[in-house]
Amino acid sequence: MSVTEQVIQKDLQYSVPVAARPDFVLTRGEGVTLYDAEGKGYTDWVAGIAVNALGYGDKELMDVVGQQMGTGLIHVSGLYHTQAMVELAELLCSISFADKAYFCNSGAEANEGALKFARKRAYVNDQPNKTNVVSFTQAFHGRTLGALSVTPSEKYQKPFKPMVPGAVVGEFNSIESARELIDDDTAAVVVEPIQGEGGINVASAAFLQALRQICDESGAILIFDEIQCGLGRTGELWAHTASGATPDIMTLAKPLAGGLPIGAILVTEEIGAAMSPGDHGSTFSGGAVVTRAAEMVVNRVKSQGFLEHVREVGDYLLERLAEINSPHITDVRGRGLMAGIELDIPPASVVAAGYEEGLLLVSSGSNVIRFVPPLIIEKQHVDELIDKLTLILEGIDAED
Ligand SMILES: *Cc1c(COP(=O)(O)O)cnc(C)c1O
Repeated sequence: MSVTEQVIQKDLQYSVPVAARPDFVLTRGEGVTLYDAEGKGYTDWVAGIAVNALGYGDKELMDVVGQQMGTGLIHVSGLYHTQAMVELAELLCSISFADKAYFCNSGAEANEGALKFARKRAYVNDQPNKTNVVSFTQAFHGRTLGALSVTPSEKYQKPFKPMVPGAVVGEFNSIESARELIDDDTAAVVVEPIQGEGGINVASAAFLQALRQICDESGAILIFDEIQCGLGRTGELWAHTASGATPDIMTLAKPLAGGLPIGAILVTEEIGAAMSPGDHGSTFSGGAVVTRAAEMVVNRVKSQGFLEHVREVGDYLLERLAEINSPHITDVRGRGLMAGIELDIPPASVVAAGYEEGLLLVSSGSNVIRFVPPLIIEKQHVDELIDKLTLILEGIDAED
């Protein structure tokens, strides 16, 4: 039996079946290309779902991780000081609105913590009724129960009810809806400046500014979930900066440690001051290897020319996607290297055809193909993508 057949069979036999995976086995990566066990290459427009910002095999990332491993200090827990953790906290505060940082292990965990921070802040302010959390249609904030409760999707929530009480759902990009729902009982408002899982929906600057103002009026905490859209993906360090609105809390995860698991909660002085020793924590919080990796990734993303590259290739991607002449594309949207095409056919058929053509693609929402590649991707890869996508969409036409 081939490696491919063996792995697929073991997966069927031993893995909890929460994913439907295609019938190839990835074995290695280089740059923006992944290779399967048969040696076939795939240009990667997914990046492990907006994670592998530096692509595969980045020498500096591997060296930094190796060096930290070499000290023997992989993990010591949050009980002790390490240089690695505080230096990442300092770095993230120096390039954002934040005054303090807390580290965890995933996006869901970061949002989970952010919601707890917001409730704790109301609690120390003697506002026991201030417990609601307003989130928005098509939002995705993670799959742990707290984060899931503010992810208003029947598909994700239904089998796991009851949800955590206090979740209130507003309409994305509707200032009117936000005004109606955010009140004195609102502890926090959580929003993605660009929705990733929900279909690459860009929040308008006016909407984010209105949320800032309404939160100030009602004393609610404004949380920007930049887990997918943050840290360079849009061609700016943070997706919210262009809007002029600043949050009280920002959550990060996906690309932060270049593929190693990490999450971060960045907060203002005021939120930080509401938290005391023992209030929150996690065994793996701020491990030395992952925080060293993250420090390296953040330094690369903010280095000379990196974000310019993202903007240049991102603009090119959106421009070329808009040029595809297919009746199946009903919209093209996004910013930087976070783009989507809306289709009038099931995205799964395009994703499957992509595998045949040596492209990794992923859908988003019910009818969108999203493009969230490694940030080091080049224009030549965009050209390859456009050629192949054009062929794929024409092929689908021919079958009709
Ligand atoms: C992926 C994602 C999450 C959840 O992150 P996990 O690491 O999968 O728990 C939360 N918010 C947004 C915007 C995401 O894209």
